[in-house]
Amino acid sequence: MSIANNLNVVLSSLTKEVTLVAVSKTILNSSLLEAYHAGQKVFGENKVQELVQKAKDLPKDIIWHMIGHLQTNKVKLIAPFVSLIHGVDSIKLLKEINKRAEQNNRVIDCLLQVHIATEKTKFGFDITEVEQAITIAKEFPNIKIVGLMGMATFTDNKQQVIQEFNSLKILFETVKNKDITILSMGMSADYQLAIDKGSTMVRVGSAIFEHRN
Ligand SMILES: *Cc1c(COP(=O)(O)O)cnc(C)c1O
Repeated sequence: MSIANNLNVVLSSLTKEVTLVAVSKTILNSSLLEAYHAGQKVFGENKVQELVQKAKDLPKDIIWHMIGHLQTNKVKLIAPFVSLIHGVDSIKLLKEINKRAEQNNRVIDCLLQVHIATEKTKFGFDITEVEQAITIAKEFPNIKIVGLMGMATFTDNKQQVIQEFNSLKILFETVKNKDITILSMGMSADYQLAIDKGSTMVRVGSAIFEHRN
């Protein structure tokens, strides 16, 4: 299967309200361009250095999302151009994004990452902290919280994944408003489940690009 074929398989299984972020981390520019020329314009990266390099080298109409853990000292590198930051997991990071956005005369859209998995290693706010974080974020004029993001536990236990997606969906329903409209959940292994559970944005890498370097 070609990348264009893979892309179309994924796209055809999405309902029309769901946005596809093609996760191109570690993928060569030539492969990324295959997806681009097949019509994909939104790409996600999880490393700042790689994101900056690709944004420099690749077509200017690509919409870049930062999907991974973001260190505060690297925010300035992506602040000039990033469209959406998925992994906002602390007030300190919100503050830094606001500062760098202001320096670039921009408002940067952000998703609050919510800790829904049982693994200790996954980043994010606890479910109980999210409403307060949204309130605090209102004090920062150069960021806009547009939704929530979560990653389910890496497990074959489908019931557990469903439960974790459900808990995020319930939280999303309680904080949803005219600005907060995006629920980013679902990757190659579980995006169908995530869509069933109300995801509006899926982050899919290996199902499109197959091999990572
Ligand atoms: C790598 C990654 C994805 C995509 O994972 P696949 O299994 O390749 O689809 C999605 N979200 C985040 C945060 C990632 O780091």
